[in-house]
Amino acid sequence: MSRKRMIYEGKAKILYEGPEPGTLIQYFKDDATAFNAEKRAVLDGKGVLNNRISEFMMTRLAGVGIPNHFIKRLNMREQLIRKVEIIPLEVIVRNTAAGSLSKRLGIEEGTALPRALVEFSLKNDELGDPLVSEEHIAAFNWASPQEMDEIISTALRVNDFMSGLFAAVNIKLVDFKIEFGRHFEGDLQRTILADEISPDSCRLWDFDTQEKLDKDRFRRDLGGVTEAYTEVARRLGILKESGQGADIVDFSTGVK
Ligand code: UDP
Repeated sequence: MSRKRMIYEGKAKILYEGPEPGTLIQYFKDDATAFNAEKRAVLDGKGVLNNRISEFMMTRLAGVGIPNHFIKRLNMREQLIRKVEIIPLEVIVRNTAAGSLSKRLGIEEGTALPRALVEFSLKNDELGDPLVSEEHIAAFNWASPQEMDEIISTALRVNDFMSGLFAAVNIKLVDFKIEFGRHFEGDLQRTILADEISPDSCRLWDFDTQEKLDKDRFRRDLGGVTEAYTEVARRLGILKESGQGADIVDFSTGVK
């Protein structure tokens, strides 16, 4: 097999040229980083789990009419995606106070927010992804007002849908980060969901015990990171399909 041309390497994923124009291959690494890559580790199996969890989320979201970049999963670590021009914003939706919101505003972690909050950070590692307002976004033209309308309404729909999906498996969706891209098809341009949706980009707490089932286990040295991601996949029913191929490994037991 010929080696694919690498387009971009990020902290947790690599993008390769796809088999057809307008497509890319997204490869999920086991690398974990936090605090603007000051903290690093390799977590065996994380990439495989995130590939599966993101596939599941994107497929479900497409099913309720939320367009996204996912086309199909290719193997354990790779998925075929639509090529987009990434809008340089991290779109964060919060239902419960945690992380940087708690730190910034002094609101205790776990406090239910009166309504879902949408925040934006500029995607810029050198600056540490600073929080920006819609005023900044408009002034510097990072996204058009029309794109912002689509981004906000889609982010809230994603939140409603995913909150329900996780609640059904006894998981509280505390907050999450999504990214959007401009997809060009002939003369047509639309804004679609891109990147990934996984426990790397969401805060997920067990409803009863408040146990963290997400990347905070890594950020806060709680241990059991892949076990927690495996638990999320198991609750979503992803690991139960193991009859279909040898590529689905239950990392809690190591059994295929
Ligand atoms: N998040 C992310 N990538 C980032 C920053 C945040 O996926 O570069 C996610 C994070 O996992 C959490 C949500 O966005 O689910 C809100 O993160 P927060 O602003 O609280 O920042 P953090 O505490 O992670 O620095």
